Parts: sequence; structure tokens; C-alpha cells
Amino acid sequence: MATQAEEFGLYIGGKWVVPTGAKRFETTNPANGETVGSFVSGTAKDATDAIAAAHVAFRPWKETPAPKRGEILLEVAHRMRHAKSALGRIVTREMGKVIGEGLGDVQESIDFVEYMAGEGRRLFGETVPSELRSKFCLTVRQPKGVVACITPWNFPTAIPNWKIAAALITGNTVVFKPASGTARCAAEVVKVYEEAGLPDGVLNLVTGPGGVVGNALIDDPRVRSVSFTGGVSTGREVYVRGAQGLKMVHLELGGKNPVILMEDADLPLALDGVLFGAFGTSGQRCTATSRLIIHERVYDEFLALLTDRLDRFPVGDPLDPKTAMGPVASLDQEKKILDYIEVGQKEATLRYGGHKLTGGAYDRGHFLEPTIFETTHGTRISKEEIFGPVLSVLRVASYEEAVRVANDVDYGLSSAIYTRDVNRAFRAIEDLEAGITYVNAPTIGAEVQLPFGGIKSTGNGGREAGSVAVDEFTEIKTVFVDFSSKLQKAQIDSETVE
Ligand code: NDP
Repeated sequence: MATQAEEFGLYIGGKWVVPTGAKRFETTNPANGETVGSFVSGTAKDATDAIAAAHVAFRPWKETPAPKRGEILLEVAHRMRHAKSALGRIVTREMGKVIGEGLGDVQESIDFVEYMAGEGRRLFGETVPSELRSKFCLTVRQPKGVVACITPWNFPTAIPNWKIAAALITGNTVVFKPASGTARCAAEVVKVYEEAGLPDGVLNLVTGPGGVVGNALIDDPRVRSVSFTGGVSTGREVYVRGAQGLKMVHLELGGKNPVILMEDADLPLALDGVLFGAFGTSGQRCTATSRLIIHERVYDEFLALLTDRLDRFPVGDPLDPKTAMGPVASLDQEKKILDYIEVGQKEATLRYGGHKLTGGAYDRGHFLEPTIFETTHGTRISKEEIFGPVLSVLRVASYEEAVRVANDVDYGLSSAIYTRDVNRAFRAIEDLEAGITYVNAPTIGAEVQLPFGGIKSTGNGGREAGSVAVDEFTEIKTVFVDFSSKLQKAQIDSETVE
């Protein structure tokens, strides 16, 4: 379904610009092939221009009182709320998640921008006693400078806002390089910031290939910090590249998130959770439930319940509110997931689905069946991130075995346990190697006022969201004020306490 594509430029220094001789690329609706927008394929020079604009804008923005910066963010949130329904539809059209989730993506953006607006009146430092008399010690937060935000396609408004709002409230200026597949969502987000009155150059958008635009951003000495969410191999490249310039590189990467289902679990509750966790967003969440570890005593019963529900799990038009699962996000995604399904067919037992959906409207999009494999621990499908609607189910004989299996992967983002035993639930909170643990809820469901991030190959130790979101974007300055009017020497001057 080819339509005239709406054209977007780059947003640099407060203007939408189309560089001379610019090449273009288009994004398409994964449900039906419709063109969603046409974008500039930015170059290294475009990235450099955007950095220059952000660099010029930095000082006045840094000097703007943080509560005033917060007022602009509140206006962003207000405008986004007003535009929520339109933005949610664009998310669904460009990325393919069902409309409830498209709207949820935008709601998460609104929530976070509002939360960060409030941070403008906090940005706490510490006051700490001095070991000397007449001396006052404190810390203040200062912005880093120009920061690069590089984002994936699966939360095409929420993840950019998580980074942009936290970077802006702390006084940084931003060059934003979104996933190419969801450039329209990115442009719409930037338009809201523009309309809310953000000063020129404070936020800049450069669309284009990651390897070109991303590298130019990471290499430029004026960019002091890189905030990246994406796949592990790209993240590793970004980290190594950033290390050359001794930059802060914040990485949020993949996951292979387990739900442990114990023999005493509330099975109907777990059933809803597993369906949503595994097949929501067609399994394309970094926190998606991709492993279901079931105690042998309820294994057969739960799998029967699960497959029965999948028989009544509508896959189709993501704009139809009755649809439970839309397409996967792109042809590349479709191919990658089907490759994994082929791997699974060789090393495990296919229990449900396993095919591309065809016929009628399915032929225009990238629709896959929700898929379940019964497998043993150690297979590729049980350990590698598939990032699609493919659930690996594993049978275990005890809690100890469940935890061993859950932890024995490279990733450590989200995890969950269903049990009615409160002691075991708290034991799991201690035992599970992950940045996030849910009890009696699926592996998905982040809330913006809580930290988000993972351990092991999921990242490099940072957290987004929550009150700690500002850590990534601030330098701590330690201040000593000596009002003794004499030279005092820490560690050297001593006093006897009488
Ligand atoms: P990619 O790693 O392919 O891309 C992420 C971003 O990096 C895109 O903007 C991409 O641009 C850009 N990029 C690509 N190559 C480079 C490069 N060499 N240098 C700098 N930037 C580059 O990930 P996906 O977009 O495919 O997203 C899926 C992945 O993201 C999954 O593995 C998922 O687990 C992870 N993810 C993690 C989350 C978390 O918080 N832990 C949340 C959401 C997703 P372009 O699109 O132009 O290639």
C-alpha cells in the first residue's frame, strides 16, 4: 500500500533542515507495508553540525535554573498528553505493537517527562560534616555537556524520552539518534519538545544509519556522554569506541528473562502474566518473558492451559483494539525470528505455533504465530535473546533447580516468580541474578519512578528511570568552604578532644 510519504528533515539548532544532496530513507508499517514517513539519511557531517549546535546551546541551558527547565518539561508532558491518541497510533503504525501498547508507550513518556520535571526542584546533593572546624562540605550536581542518545525501535517514544528528559532536566544538551525503523516516532517526539518552547540547539535530531551517525557522535570530543539502548553486539562496539575518548557510556542491552512457576502458584494469574509477558509487543521487549521455568508438578497442567488460551489469542491488525498480538517490527525481525524457530525445531520440541501467518491481510505484513518450544536448559533457544514471540519452556524438579536454570544465562535484566509461599518469594528476590524481580507478576511492567536496568551482559552497571536517572547525566562536584580565615590541613592538623 504505497502512499505519499510525509517528509521530515533533521532538527538542528532549532530548525528542521534538509542538507543539500541529502539521501532519504522511508519507514513502513509492518502490518501492511504502508509508508509512514521519509527521513534524511544523515551523514557524519550532519552529526557534527548537530553537536556544534548542542555545544553552543549548552552554557545558556546549563545556566537556566533547573526548576525553569522543569517547566518546559511539564509543558512537553502536557502537549504529549494532548497528542497521546495521535502519537499512539503512529507508534502502532510504525512499529507494529497493538494500539493499547502504542498508547502505553506514549503514556510512559508522559509519566517520565512529568517525573523528571519534578526533579528540577530536587537534584539533590549532600551536605557532609568536615573533620575541621569552620569548614562546610557539600556536593552539587553539574551537567556533563553535550550528550548523545541512541535508541532502539521497540519503545520508540518511551526510551527516547527516558533519556532526553533526564539529560535535559540536569542541564545537558542532546543529540538524539533514533533507530532508523522508527524515525517518525522520533521526529514526532522532537516536535513536541520544539512546540513546548525548548531553546534552539538544546535538543537536536539526526536520523540515519547507526554506523555513520552513531560513530560520528561517539567519536566527537565535544560529546561527553553516550546513552545507548540496543542489542549487545552494537552496545559492545559503542562501549569500546566510547572508551577511546574516555567517555561515560551507559548501556541498556538485551535480556533472556525467566518466569519461574512454582507448584503452589496461582495458575490462572500466572497464565495471564505469561501470555502478556511472552507475547505482548510480539515478544519484542527487552524484558519479555522468553523462558518459562515450570515445576514438574504443574508442568503439564499449565502448558495445557497456555496452549488452550493461545487458540483464542487473536493475531492481526494492531490498530484493532481486539487484537492481542500485532506483527513483528520489520522484515529483518521476521527473518531473525524464523531462523531461531528453525534452530528450535532442530534442538527442541515445538509445542505451539512456529510459522509465519499467511493469507489475506497477513500477506501484507510480518505476522508470526505465537510460538512455544519445550526444551532443556542449554539449548540455543533457551539461552540466546530471540526478541520475538517465542517462549522456551523448561521443566524443573525443585526451586533450587529453577534458580540455577534462571541464572545460567549471559543476561540479567528481568525475572519473575509465581508462588504463594512468602518465604520462597523473598528467597527468590535474593537469589535471582537480575536487575529486576517481580513476584506474582510477569517480567514486564516497568514504572518510571523506579530504577530500570540489568546486570551481566544486559548493561554496564547504570540504571535509567527512578530517582537515580539523573546519575547518568550529572557530574558530582565536591565543594569545601573554609570560613576559618586560616590554612587548615585535612589529615594533618589535629585536635585533642577534651
Ligand atoms: P540495535 O543495537 O541494532 O540498534 C540500537 C540503536 O543503535 C539504533 O539507533 C541503531 O541505529 C544504532 N546503531 C546501530 N549500529 C550502531 C553503531 N555501530 N554505532 C552506534 N549506533 C548504532 O538494536 P535494535 O534497535 O535492533 O533494538 C533491539 C535490541 O535492543 C534488543 O537486543 C533489545 O534487547 C535491546 N533493548 C534493550 C532495552 C533495555 O533497556 N535493556 C530496551 C529495549 C531494547 P539504526 O537503527 O540506524 O541501525
